[in-house]
Amino acid sequence: MVRAATRTQAAPGIPLSNSAFETIIDAFHGCLTRMDPAGGDIWRTPPVVARALITEVGYGEYFPHLLGSVHVAAESGEISPTDLVLLPAGCYCIYPHYRGRTLMTPVDVGVEAICFRQESSHEVGRLRSFRMREFVHLDTELGCFGWRDEWLNRAEAWLSAIGLAPVRELASDPFFGAQRKVLAAMQRDQALKWELVVEVGPGIRQAVMSGNVHKTKFGDTFNITGPGGEAIHSACAAFGSDRLALALIHTHGPDPSAWPDTVRAQLILGGFA
Ligand code: 5GP
Ligand code: ZN
Repeated sequence: MVRAATRTQAAPGIPLSNSAFETIIDAFHGCLTRMDPAGGDIWRTPPVVARALITEVGYGEYFPHLLGSVHVAAESGEISPTDLVLLPAGCYCIYPHYRGRTLMTPVDVGVEAICFRQESSHEVGRLRSFRMREFVHLDTELGCFGWRDEWLNRAEAWLSAIGLAPVRELASDPFFGAQRKVLAAMQRDQALKWELVVEVGPGIRQAVMSGNVHKTKFGDTFNITGPGGEAIHSACAAFGSDRLALALIHTHGPDPSAWPDTVRAQLILGGFA
């Protein structure tokens, strides 16, 4: 019997995982790859990214309370920030790759990212270091809304099939500062963000997936245009890998070999004795 570790940590909210936990993550990453109708390329990111990029997308303005920063000491001993910050979401790495380009057809890219956010609480599932599997789509406005909604439907059906009883909720991002309520209300009014929420621990419900449309935010920022020269729209479907594993373990137990056959078959978990 191989039990998945869920309580080992390098620091609060910084999990250490074992091979059973990683096998679960590999299994549903495989599911997500097979579910992606575009079958696009999948990029993998390091845990750090250029500070300039994160400034350019406005993360430091909207979410400075979540952003981690790399500092080092000079020979004098003085500690100062470097050109790197900790990556807060996978899709930020994708858009600059298309900077200045005109896209004649929609673009689909997958990304597997190691992310960091300075969460204020360390309840189960609210990890500061976590992995995110995302699908990114660049298209027209209509195309992006349709693509996002199809991913929500697909993910909802899949999460139900693996026994997680997802609930779809209209959501907003945890903006910082005086404008936070206005920004969150705008996001909700336009239904820009939906989440699929499941139980990840006793009485603890959290989002394991979000479906987001960004309108022309990244098209404008990186000067990416469509065939007619108009700013491109973008959307992303983001899955929290560690949280999904925690939800599965909470629901079906720490020993994946004892999970229901239907769940094991969905995840193609044949490797456990
Ligand atoms: P979003 O960019 O929508 O905030 O996050 C995308 C997904 O990443 C969420 O649906 C969730 O599954 C995961 N996620 C976001 N924040 C955290 C976090 O603090 N800890 C963990 N483990 N996952 C997170
Ligand atoms: Zn994203």
